[in-house]
Amino acid sequence: MYNLAILGGGPAGYTAAELASKAGLSVLLFEQTALGGTCLNVGCIPTKTLLYSAKLYHNARNAAKYGVTADNVAFDYAKMQQRKTKVVRKLVAGIRARLQACTIVNAPAQVTARTDSEVTLTANGETYTAEQLFICTGSTNFMPPIPGLKDNPAVWDSTAALEAKELPASVAIIGGGVIGMEFATLYHELGVAVTVVEAMPTILPNLDPDIVALLLDKYRKSGIRILTDTRVKAVEGDVLITDGELIEAERILVCVGRRANLQGLEALSDLRLERGAIWVDEFMRTNLKNVYAAGDVTGKVMLAHVAARQAEVAVGRMLRQLPLQRIAYNAIPSVVYTNPEIASVGLTEQQVRDFYCDMEGDERIAAMEGGVDSLFQVHTLPMTYSGRFVAENEGDTGLCKIITDRRNNTILGVHMIGNPCSEFVSAASFAVRMGYTIPEFRQVIFPHPTVSEILKETLL
Ligand code: NAD
Repeated sequence: MYNLAILGGGPAGYTAAELASKAGLSVLLFEQTALGGTCLNVGCIPTKTLLYSAKLYHNARNAAKYGVTADNVAFDYAKMQQRKTKVVRKLVAGIRARLQACTIVNAPAQVTARTDSEVTLTANGETYTAEQLFICTGSTNFMPPIPGLKDNPAVWDSTAALEAKELPASVAIIGGGVIGMEFATLYHELGVAVTVVEAMPTILPNLDPDIVALLLDKYRKSGIRILTDTRVKAVEGDVLITDGELIEAERILVCVGRRANLQGLEALSDLRLERGAIWVDEFMRTNLKNVYAAGDVTGKVMLAHVAARQAEVAVGRMLRQLPLQRIAYNAIPSVVYTNPEIASVGLTEQQVRDFYCDMEGDERIAAMEGGVDSLFQVHTLPMTYSGRFVAENEGDTGLCKIITDRRNNTILGVHMIGNPCSEFVSAASFAVRMGYTIPEFRQVIFPHPTVSEILKETLL
């Protein structure tokens, strides 16, 4: 019997497998496709690899603004795809090397029985037992029940789009969320005609609206068609029938969210679910003794770095390591790899406002001088206050927006648009995670000239 069986070899599963085996547990890891999960094989890494090629092409075509002449700039999509495959293979091999102490079963597994001290699984016709089970089965692309989508050869999900050997001439993207806008960036920079159809009044509805407005303005001016408040009623062949107009495109890419993968868990009939995902407590324990879950399957925050952190917390709890660790959900950085990039951490202005309205009660707030807005402060500064940003981002203004609490001066949220903010949002994560006050943050020395200085400038 193994100490720990892990279902799924994505960021949650492989992080847990490595940590648990290093701590001396015997670990059995089931992965039905490839180690690395969605992130490494059909998500973060392949998209960022293709986006990098697209950005190089885009920058070369726009090099004249920087005094560089680049004639006859061209690209070879098949080569970009080959490089993407090479990058993924290299990283998958790296993960395999880190898991040498684990037993890896490359097959779909099924839980067949469970008691409080033992879990039984089958895979490839073999039976396995373990003391504890860690469910890290991830999520899959959601196909909404729009008439005409199913079995339509013109329709892609993100996985099919990443695998395509050739670029379409035009693409209509259903859903202006993170995946939709990253693919819009990739295709637009490579010359594909792009239309984005978003049901909500804005694209990227969970992000700060001032940041999104800058992206929207730039993308519309550059020729991406973005329709908001628009519902797709049906699809006929390669035509989207919306509540406003008909949109024809060679490919229809569906990016309307992902759903937890619960296959293979049917025998765990008492497993508590919440909104289609596995319920977990603060240590990633499910309601069943000896069963943990982490990553997208818990439906909490569908990000690879959150999955990895959840796995660390879960393994720490399994091993009863002190001090007990928890996840700082208030300080999770996130990045949207558009061009320019968007990066944020912590609360948005609206979330702070909503929080105070809930806490203080509408009546108390109405009686307060200045209302709820007197409880926090919004600091904004264009990225052009950074010399390095101006040197490297001809024509862009960018924005850094920081929300602080007026009562204790702490930093609650940081929201940015401008390259390369993905690379320094971690400094903002430290500030939010550690509860830095403005005076404390001002004492940090940022290297000059870097775009990261904008964080300090915005709080001056
Ligand atoms: P999402 O929830 O981010 O966005 C889906 C969008 O589709 C929403 O804006 C929604 O309003 C819209 N929508 C839903 N139904 C629609 C319809 N019928 N017509 C038009 N619009 C509709 O989901 P996603 O972009 O598919 O991403 C899935 C998950 O993967 C997210 O949790 C995301 O955070 C994660 N992800 C993260 C990154 C990153 O961190 N860079 C990259 C890719 C994916």
